[in-house]
Amino acid sequence: MTDVIKNIESIRPLIPDGVRLVAVSKTKPAAMIQDAYSVGQRLFGENKALEMRDKHAQLPDDIEWHFIGHLQTNKIKYIIPYVTLIHSIDSLSLLQAVNKEAAKHDRVVDCLLQFHIATEETKFGLDRAEADELMQHYAELPNVRIVGVMGMATNTDNKEQVRSEFRNLHSIFVDLKSKYFADRPEFKEVSMGMSHDWQIAVEEGSTLIRLGSTIFGPRDYGVKVND
Ligand SMILES: *Cc1c(COP(=O)(O)O)cnc(C)c1O
Repeated sequence: MTDVIKNIESIRPLIPDGVRLVAVSKTKPAAMIQDAYSVGQRLFGENKALEMRDKHAQLPDDIEWHFIGHLQTNKIKYIIPYVTLIHSIDSLSLLQAVNKEAAKHDRVVDCLLQFHIATEETKFGLDRAEADELMQHYAELPNVRIVGVMGMATNTDNKEQVRSEFRNLHSIFVDLKSKYFADRPEFKEVSMGMSHDWQIAVEEGSTLIRLGSTIFGPRDYGVKVND
């Protein structure tokens, strides 16, 4: 049994009902994804469009591909034909561009609004005012469907800070739900929690946890990946 299989099988019983695991396979070879697939894992997360395209071409068709990274407009075309969920909508212009490309493929693509909840400057995401502005244009975009929110907590050992950032994201979700999505059952996803903080995220209402190193081992960024 490979480490990937062992890791998946040991984490699975810890994940409560109602929370789905996105196995974040960025930088890792297709063979490792195949291992996870062999024990029933179907949701995989990637953060580079070309890397995801190449892996999609090599791997089984019933994999659900989740795009979790910052998405550049000129790369949208590499993921739209097959992507299951884009976690990282961080501007109206990106949502409009996704809508346009999805229309070409006659698809309605599910998306999450990414919020900036961390104190770090480097993390992408909307604030509440930008989300309200974006929502003014949502009815004009028939080829995208907003199904929830996503965020990344600050990378810190301070668990109370992480908890309060996740709590903030959840309250944004509740607020958007009542304001714009009260009659839309599909608006139900809160994507939060990574390898080092997913237990806290689950306690604060996560429905999608995104685990990379816990499943596939540490990443080696010394190797340049195709972006
Ligand atoms: C890489 C990445 C993850 C997974 O990170 P780990 O710490 O390895 O679990 C989750 N979410 C996003 C957006 C990522 O880029």
